Amino acid sequence: MEMAYFDYYCDKCEKQFEIQAPISDDRKWVKCPDCEGKNVRRVYSSIVVPKKSSGSSGGSHGGGSCASCRTHNCGSCG
Ligand SMILES: [Zn+2]
Repeated sequence: MEMAYFDYYCDKCEKQFEIQAPISDDRKWVKCPDCEGKNVRRVYSSIVVPKKSSGSSGGSHGGGSCASCRTHNCGSCG
């Protein structure tokens, strides 16, 4: 089963903690490791959103890039 880390925040302790759980888990069992309270909420601050690659449209050349160096930031071939 695939595991993942989830960040949670305890309203009572005002602390953030991390739990490990299966991705498909509903995580209703999550409680604060300090006060064992259930007033916890998921925080999403550390989620990394993968950037969509802009150069995958295929074929036609994208706007602005240099045809000879194939970079999006053409600063060297002027
Ligand atoms: Zn707590």
